[in-house]
Parts: sequence; C-alpha cells; structure tokens
Amino acid sequence: MSFGQSTVLGYPRIGANRELKKAVEAYWAGRIDAAELERTAAALRAEVWQSLRNARLDAIPSNTFSFYDHVLDTAVAVGAVPDRFRRLGLSELDTYFAMARGADTEPALELTKWFGTNYHYLVPEIDASTLFAADPEKPLREFAEARELGITTRPVLVGPATFLLLAKGENPFARLDELVLVYADILRQLATAGVEWVQLDEPAYVADRTPDEIEALGRAYTRLGRLDRRPRIFVATYFGELGDALPALLDTPIDALGLDLVAGPGNLERLAAAGPLRGKTIVAGLVDGHNVWRTDLRAAVTAGATVAGLADHLAVSTSCSLLHVPVDLSAEKRLDPDLFARLAFARQKVDEVVLLGKALRDGTAHLPEPLPPVPASWRRPDVRERLAALGPADRQRGAYADRATAQQARLGLPDLPTTTIGSFPQTASLRAARAELRGGRLDEAGYAQRMRAEIERVIRLQEELGLDVLVHGEPERNDMVQYFGDQLDGFATTELGWVQSYGSRCVRPPIIHGDVARRAPMTVEMSAYAQSLTARPVKGMLTGPVTILAWSFVRNDQPRADTADQVALALRDETIDLEAAGIRVIQVDEPALRETLPLRRAGQKAYLDWAVGSFRLATSGMADDTQLHTHLCYSEFGEVITAIDALDADVTSIEASRSKMEVLDDLAAIGYSRGVGPGVWDIHSPRVPSQDEVVDAVRRALEAVPARRLWVNPDCGLKTRGYPEVEASLKHLVSAAVELRGRP
Ligand code: GLN
Ligand code: ZN
Repeated sequence: MSFGQSTVLGYPRIGANRELKKAVEAYWAGRIDAAELERTAAALRAEVWQSLRNARLDAIPSNTFSFYDHVLDTAVAVGAVPDRFRRLGLSELDTYFAMARGADTEPALELTKWFGTNYHYLVPEIDASTLFAADPEKPLREFAEARELGITTRPVLVGPATFLLLAKGENPFARLDELVLVYADILRQLATAGVEWVQLDEPAYVADRTPDEIEALGRAYTRLGRLDRRPRIFVATYFGELGDALPALLDTPIDALGLDLVAGPGNLERLAAAGPLRGKTIVAGLVDGHNVWRTDLRAAVTAGATVAGLADHLAVSTSCSLLHVPVDLSAEKRLDPDLFARLAFARQKVDEVVLLGKALRDGTAHLPEPLPPVPASWRRPDVRERLAALGPADRQRGAYADRATAQQARLGLPDLPTTTIGSFPQTASLRAARAELRGGRLDEAGYAQRMRAEIERVIRLQEELGLDVLVHGEPERNDMVQYFGDQLDGFATTELGWVQSYGSRCVRPPIIHGDVARRAPMTVEMSAYAQSLTARPVKGMLTGPVTILAWSFVRNDQPRADTADQVALALRDETIDLEAAGIRVIQVDEPALRETLPLRRAGQKAYLDWAVGSFRLATSGMADDTQLHTHLCYSEFGEVITAIDALDADVTSIEASRSKMEVLDDLAAIGYSRGVGPGVWDIHSPRVPSQDEVVDAVRRALEAVPARRLWVNPDCGLKTRGYPEVEASLKHLVSAAVELRGRP
C-alpha cells in the first residue's frame, strides 16, 4: 500500500463558520444534548473528508477532529484519564469535558502552548495511579465513518514519545516502554479494522533532546515497527529541524517519515547525509501550515525534487497540521485584491499540495504563474528610512537610578504601590455595544460615548478601592492585538479567518502584509479621557511589538525582526503622544515574549536580541520621569529570565501566585533590581483571596524584594472575571498592601 503523492498532516476542525464552537458551547449550556452535538461533529468531519477528496488529495487523515484538543484525545486513547476525573462518575463525553474545563471542585488539566504556536493543548497528568490501556474507540469510529463515505483515511495520534514529553508528573518519560505496549495494542486494533496507514506525530523532537531521549525514540519505533500486525507507520515531525533524531528514526522499521521543510530547511541536508533510505517514504512538508501565504510553487518543486532524489518514495505535504490557519480564503469578500491573490488558507493549501504532487510527477508546465511583485503602496519609504537611520541610542533610556528618582519625584507613590494589569471585566453590555456597532445600530460616536461611560465607572471604582496607579480598563479593546492591527497601515483583518486557540476559543489573527505605519494616535483619546477624571496616575496601555507579531500572521518576505521594528516605531510614536497628553505611566505588554522563543537553544539568543531590541525601540522614546511598566503572563522563564532584565522596564508585572513567588528568586539571581509586581491573586479562577492570603503572598515576596520596589497587583488582566469577585479581591489586595506598609 503506497502512501500516495499528496497529503496534509491535519485540517481545521472548527468548521468554516465556527460550527463546532457554537455546538460545543450550546452543549455546555444545556441547550442541545449529546446526540445533537455528535450529529454536528459528524457532519463537520464528513465535510472535511469530502472536501479533501474532492480536491484530489491522495492520503486523507482522520482523528484530526476533536471536541477540545487532540492531545487530550490521545490521553483518552491510551487510558491516561486521571482518577480524579474518573471518580466524578460522568458520561464519557462529560468526563472528557471535565478534564478540559474542570468540574465542581476538580480543576481542569493545565493548558499550555503547543510548541511555538498560539494553539493550547491540555497537559496530560501522569502519576503512579495512571494505568495505560488502549482505548482507540475514537480513531476507530472516525475511520469507520469515513469509510462509510467511501474514503479510506489515515488515523492520526500524538506519538508515544511526544505524548510523554508533553505530560507532567514524576518523570513521565520513564514510562515510554510501557506506553509503547499500549500503542502496539492500538496499532493491532487499527490494523484489524482495516487501517492501512497510521500517523504518529513526534514534534517534540524538533526541540533540543538528550541523547537518551533520542535513543528511546529509536527504541520505541523499532518495537512498533517490528509488530507483525500493524498498519504502515508514518512518523510526522514538524515546526523545525529533527537533528540527530532524523537518522535515529530512519534506522527504525517505520515506513514513512515526515519532515518540515519550511520551518526546518536544514532537514534536507540532514536527510542527504543519512545515506540510503531503505524503502522509506519521505513526506516532504513543503506548504507552510503555520502561515497564510501562498507557496512559491517553483521553489517548492525544486526542494521536492531534491528529496525525491534521496528517497524511494516522495509524498508532498503541509509543513504541519493546517489547524493553525483559517479554513477558507474564498469566504473573504472584503480583502484587498492584491492581498487576496497572495494568500492561501487551509482549503487553498490543499490545492497547492495536490498541484505540487502533480508537478513533481509531470513537470512544472501546469503550475500557475508566479505572483507579481508586491504593490508599491505596501512599501513605506519613510518608515524604511527611519529604520535605516536607527542607532543604539534609539534603544536606550537614561540610567535606571536617575529614572527612579525622577519618577518618584513626579508620582510620589507609597511603598508597595497597588495597581492592576489593565483590563476590567468585559461585561455583557460592553459586548452588546460592540455587536450594535458592528450591526450598524450604534454609530462611532455613540459607541465612544458608551466606552467613556465605562471608563468613568472603572476609574471611580478604582479610586474607591484605593488603588495607587489606575487603568482605564480597556473596554474598547476586543482583543489586545487586533485593536492595534485595525489602526495600523500594513495590517489587514479578515472576516472569517478564525483559528482555534484552545477548546471552543477561536481567534482571528490580523495579517501583516506591508510596511507598518501609524495613521494617527491609537489610544491617546481614551487614556487622556481616563486621566482627566482623576488626580491619580492612569497607566497608558499598549501591546508590545513581539506580542503583536506573535498573534498575527506575519509577512515572510523580510526578517521578523524588521517587521517588529516597524511596529515598534509606531508604538514609540504612540508613547510620545501619550506623554504629551499627560500620561505619566505607560505599560507595554509582552505576554508572548516567551511563546515565540525558538524551540532549539541555538536560535534563542538571536531571537531574544531582536525581540528585546524591538521592545526597547518601542519604549525608549519616553522621558526619564515617565514610568515604563511591562507585563508578562507566566512565571517560568528558564534561561530566558535575563531577557526580562534586558527589557529595561521600570516595573515588570509577572504571574506568580500559582508558583508561589519562585520567580522572584530567579530574578534576584540575575541581579534584577528594578520594580517588580509578582501577581498575588490568581485571576484564572473566580476565587476571592482573603486579605490574609494576600498579606502572606506579599510577605513571601518581601523576602526577595524590598518594599520600595515591590508592587502589589493581580496575576493578569481582569477581562474574563466578573465584577463581584473583582471588587472583593481588589479590596483585599489594597488592604493587604496598606496593612504591610511601613512595617519591617
Ligand atoms: N493589559 C492586558 C490586560 O489586562 C494584558 C493581557 C495579557 O497579559 N494577556 O488584559
Ligand atoms: Zn497576563
């Protein structure tokens, strides 16, 4: 059974109009029952398979559908359902959703970023009580469902090594041999059901792995490869270069190996060096599954031909699952035609894969014409000149000691100053105002009026609560990146370009296609209005360049660093306008700084250099007596911790409540000596911390940081919380700070 010429590693499962999100949320709210949810899901799956078949894709994947997350699906397939969820005695479906979302007193599995993407997976919990056992009901059912439609599919599972490397617990990876037996059982069952090919995803091996981990991978696939009853095994890797794991996998009796040739061009050289491929199929990821640009098909054919010269069989594929791009470009009716012509979403990428497969067989005569050069209007010579003229002084503020003195003189803050991270609850009435604006029932002026009323309410509330540095509450921001993208040249917004972020949450990342320039001030009016209402300082609130890039689709015709600097210049102008409008404290959020860190250490320094450089370009236009805050959404930085210091912010707020302030020791170890606000209230849960709890947390923080540099704030923004818990928690937060002030 040959692999076929063309395939994709996965496909969006949310539906062209987010049908899955709507159905799942309706089920959670009790508006539809499990049977109806299942019917919607089956229809979505059928639609995907049929559209792939109609596109003439040879090898069609299944089990890429998920009610929530494919890592969670794999956990279920190998029996890794923690006891604490089994004990709830719920139906299978509700047990599944309980793991994803929590139930009663049981917190959900932890949610974390899927490699360098903006997709989040649920972290499997493995402990001594985990009894792995094969439960391939879902892949079997999907395989049978597709077969009913006359389509033979290739079930996809997360591979055993990656599964354990992503899991948490007491050294889960030590249980690889045991888990491989369960995969063997699954493979046997799939073979019995008529499955010809199975896809096992091992993306964890594009990150740095120890020789032991690579050897264990080889051992695992040698065992699976030697099974006498099994489908053919396709090991898929993506998001980068496999390094030493590449020859290790080729040494095993697997039948096909997938390589990402977009994010991991070095895979080609490594493949060439690996020697004869002994009957293996190489699945060449030539179409970028992680970005929205059309493929340069001629260049891809050349790369494909090189692989064909090395492998016995070649199949063309996407570089990774198409999960990370929107479903269908043809739904976009309002995009600039020049941009439209350059884009490919999931559906269009399938066509590219098919075309490439044909071109590699029959020659390039039928390939479409290459794209014309980018329109002149996308280029901004003024922005380019400004960038070319930048020197080191444009990324450098005055000495911190001078800044601290000047800021203290101007702000006169107490020890243990209190603040919040930016957003206040996004209430139903705010969402309604946005919907009315979109629907034309509210005009811009009426909308702005509603926002101002909300800002006034939020300012009054903070004054009453006694916070020291206030925020305007971000009511006007639907999304912290899109809000800026909508106001910058060089960005485009889609109508239906939704991508799954986690579970039923989808995002619509803007597309950065041209040089970035600010048309007009973006936040000044709202911030100045907020400041006009109070004598206390109100923080200006901006999203940093690295985060704006991380949560957008970024042009790939120039280095990301250059695009980041263009965004940084726009933000720099914004900070200067904010200052001129009387804003004394400006926060520039970089919650994604860690997220786009290259997976391999080798690339990390270069990334951090430009990422930090862009942030500093955005923020170093401020006067010494303007206080720069930044916010980072997590507390585990590892070696990246030095970057926090390099950002040179006057105050850094960080999530810390769940990790019990450990981050402060890490910061002390690198000599960080500016302001820091470790979160003292875990805003990810509706629980209200008592004053004593906040006092305890601040006391712990005071062991590492003196009161004059220590800020008291929540872990993150409050937009997902409700007012009752926000008011109660902030009250405790302020009274805790007041209680501790001036005490040793
Ligand atoms: N200022 C933003 C807010 O409070 C920060 C959000 C974030 O860290 N992701 O909502
Ligand atoms: Zn945050």
